[in-house]
Amino acid sequence: MRKYIIAGNWKMNKNLSEAIQLVSDLKNELAGKTLNADVIIAPPFVNLETVNSLIKDSVIKLAAQNMHFADSGAFTGEISAQMLKSVGCEYVILGHSERRTIFGETDEMINKKVHQAFANNITPILCCGESLEERENGKAFEIIEGQIKAGLKDLETTQIGNMIIAYEPIWAIGTGKTASPEQAQEIHAFIRKLLTELSNEETANNITIQYGGSVKPNNAKELLSQPDIDGALVGGACLKADSFRDIVLSV
Ligand code: PEP
Repeated sequence: MRKYIIAGNWKMNKNLSEAIQLVSDLKNELAGKTLNADVIIAPPFVNLETVNSLIKDSVIKLAAQNMHFADSGAFTGEISAQMLKSVGCEYVILGHSERRTIFGETDEMINKKVHQAFANNITPILCCGESLEERENGKAFEIIEGQIKAGLKDLETTQIGNMIIAYEPIWAIGTGKTASPEQAQEIHAFIRKLLTELSNEETANNITIQYGGSVKPNNAKELLSQPDIDGALVGGACLKADSFRDIVLSV
């Protein structure tokens, strides 16, 4: 049985005191609630250690927003998987569209990062998604297939089975435009079929495929009730404890 997983990507938001406040609020909001989803938060690197100490007595798990693919060395400004592990990260978001488009990350780099995450016992959350232009030109399926095949290159079936995939149409990220539940379901079903080809049916059926792109408390329930949508990767709406709580409680 696959799990619902709701992850909050804080992006470049919240200084240390704001991070402490948000995590404390979120813990209070979730305390005593029956949760049907795993909850992950991905604060900026500098806040990971503090946030990790604050969530130890809670259900919340820790992710990083990115990492480098090398073990260590002369990579000024970068962070390694081993460093993330040492401050409590169990997950890492890889291949977010902002990393691909703003920072020039290629499918090849992302694939190396996926391998490096597994080598350090960190679960990758691999993002994929098409731009508006690609969708309008009928290329969405082709783009997503390319990103997933490249991202999963040379992985073992068991590793594929231990990943999280996040479908995030670029045109829906931070824009307030959400894919309709039907549009999102169509892509999620396509991704699951592709994962079946890349692994096997049982493995693919157990993989959590999150939707991301302007998920808010008022649209989460409908999106998450689609058969192949198993969670959400949330940007803007995770920056307030009550709206993130409402999304978590919508499954
Ligand atoms: C994201 O960046 O992963 C995201 C989905 O952002 P938002 O929810 O703000 O669209």
